[in-house]
Amino acid sequence: MIDCHAHTNMSYCAEKALTPEIYADLVKTDTEVDAVYVTDHGMAVYFPSEMAWSWQYISDSRIFDEHRDWGNARLESHLANLAKFRIQGVLPGLEVEMMHDGRLTIDDSFRDRIDILIGSVHYLPIDIEEDRKLILKDWKTHTKRLINTGIDVLGHPFRWINNQFPVTRAIVREIVKEAKSARVSMELNGHYVVPTDVDMLQECVDLGVPVSIGTDAHAISEIGNFAYHFQTISLAGLSLANIKLYSPKRK
Ligand SMILES: [Zn+2]
Ligand SMILES: [Zn+2]
Repeated sequence: MIDCHAHTNMSYCAEKALTPEIYADLVKTDTEVDAVYVTDHGMAVYFPSEMAWSWQYISDSRIFDEHRDWGNARLESHLANLAKFRIQGVLPGLEVEMMHDGRLTIDDSFRDRIDILIGSVHYLPIDIEEDRKLILKDWKTHTKRLINTGIDVLGHPFRWINNQFPVTRAIVREIVKEAKSARVSMELNGHYVVPTDVDMLQECVDLGVPVSIGTDAHAISEIGNFAYHFQTISLAGLSLANIKLYSPKRK
């Protein structure tokens, strides 16, 4: 199995002891894990923690421009550090968000050095007390736009919206179709249980969309754990052999 989504202590929300060395050891010792893509948060690379957690940059991308040089230097040294572990199966990725103007939280000059670029929704600048229809509309617009930014994988595609209210199969299909037309893979993310994951897997198989498997590990206790993935695949009445698995290419 290739873990296409894992964090190190470069991300503010991850355990301090979680380093690339830990993943190198995992690949070496765990026969189930063939490689790990380290996909730390773009927001943790580009912003100091207080700014990152304020989410202000999502609706004001000038904040990104102000921090761009600082973030680029951090990303440069982060990638140099990760490069030492490539031979051991620890590979470079990044998990980014989309800002209001459609730009991602990564300087475009780095895109071809990131083997897997995951685009995720963690926060939307909308009033969650609003009418469900409006929330759904805003989320859909944002997600479809994100799918078309050149990302490789849509990270935990339905986590945010499922945290607001239940999501229908028709909505799942609509997003999987958008991913298909943009040649983007859908992620099966093991960090939280998401009720639509079964529907998503079945739609991906039906429409021939690749599935990216990620633990989204934030702690040493979570690394290399694919229990949720296997359980969800089986709940969907599928097996690994039925699913087109996404495998990142070196860029
Ligand atoms: Zn995420
Ligand atoms: Zn993540």
